Amino acid sequence: MAREIETKCLHLEEEEGCSENYGAISYPIYQTATYAHPGVGQSTGYDYTRLQNPTREHLEKVVASLENGVDALALSTGMAAIALMMELFEPGDHLIVDSDLYGGSIRLFQNVSAKNGISFSHIDCYKEDIETYINGQTKAVYIETPTNPMMNVTDIEELAKITRKHNLLLIVDNTFLSPYFQNPLELGADIVVHSGSKYLGGHNDTLAGFLVTNRDDISERLRFLIKTTGAGLAPLDSWLLLRGIKTLGIRMEKAQENAMRIADWLLGRKAVTRVIYPGLTKHPGYAIMKKQARGFGAMLTFQVESKEFALAILEKVRMIKYAESLGGVETLITYPVTQTHADVPLEIRERNGITDSTLRLSVGIENIKDLLGELGQVFDAIERS
Ligand SMILES: *Cc1c(COP(=O)(O)O)cnc(C)c1O
Repeated sequence: MAREIETKCLHLEEEEGCSENYGAISYPIYQTATYAHPGVGQSTGYDYTRLQNPTREHLEKVVASLENGVDALALSTGMAAIALMMELFEPGDHLIVDSDLYGGSIRLFQNVSAKNGISFSHIDCYKEDIETYINGQTKAVYIETPTNPMMNVTDIEELAKITRKHNLLLIVDNTFLSPYFQNPLELGADIVVHSGSKYLGGHNDTLAGFLVTNRDDISERLRFLIKTTGAGLAPLDSWLLLRGIKTLGIRMEKAQENAMRIADWLLGRKAVTRVIYPGLTKHPGYAIMKKQARGFGAMLTFQVESKEFALAILEKVRMIKYAESLGGVETLITYPVTQTHADVPLEIRERNGITDSTLRLSVGIENIKDLLGELGQVFDAIERS
């Protein structure tokens, strides 16, 4: 019987029952660079940690099981994962990518991949007709859903019908919802990307990235690339990710509950001109979210009446931290135009509606009374001044 996801966060079914490692409940950190060979031409299965390390391998199996993939690769950061994924392509290839993406992904595509002869069409995958952008060189479609930071929702299953028909890879960055709420491979994606620095790690203390696939041929190529380019996750960081993942379910539930309350609260404030959270029934992607995800996540974007109001919020928050990143237990507030999306060309930013009064909240697991208490104080203070 297939197990439920909270259980899969704690127990790796295929490695149960064996009493290796002295029965340790927490998987050991194999802090070793290399491994002794039992004899000439023999191997313990591990030869050198760039190729593989037991702690990293254990983590990779856990993440593969959470996303129902055949293989998962753990890398040093989310960007290392995306950069490795881009090595699947050749000069001359063309990719269709969401116009609203994590800013670092756009920077990589435009400044590194483009230099390597790969071209991109940045389109709104949630509403534009993908087929009109496909040409003979097109090899893949790369999306986030919900997108960062505008929370646009793409129907993965519908998109997969098109990518299958044209023999394109469908790659989904699933960082925002985590495997707890959404499994793109089940909906037809070929590769799932995660910044493990976010919900999977979950504690704002470790960086990591993942590539998960359900195709053996892709897994084989990625395995060759990771051992060749060398950005595999270190043993200690692999262990920190394993530890973070154990509580993924309860963290996601609590953070989502808080996000819903904050979205409602923001809707009631005069200074707030727009609240973008896919858990609101009025959000245009709500019905698709209901169909393809098990939850709405804890990321929300909102706009206030002026740039000055937005900056004043950033100045005045105390417990809520004005910081980059997301997906940890602590609530963070981000200003996309100068932080996550600073390097995104203005025309793309403007088209997406990322303005100088746009703020993004990564809602954590604090008591909601304290979160609303602080937001209330901050808003009241700005309105009084
Ligand atoms: C943070 C992030 C990344 C990049 O991950 P790092 O671990 O910071 O390198 C990629 N995609 C999304 C959606 C992210 O939020």
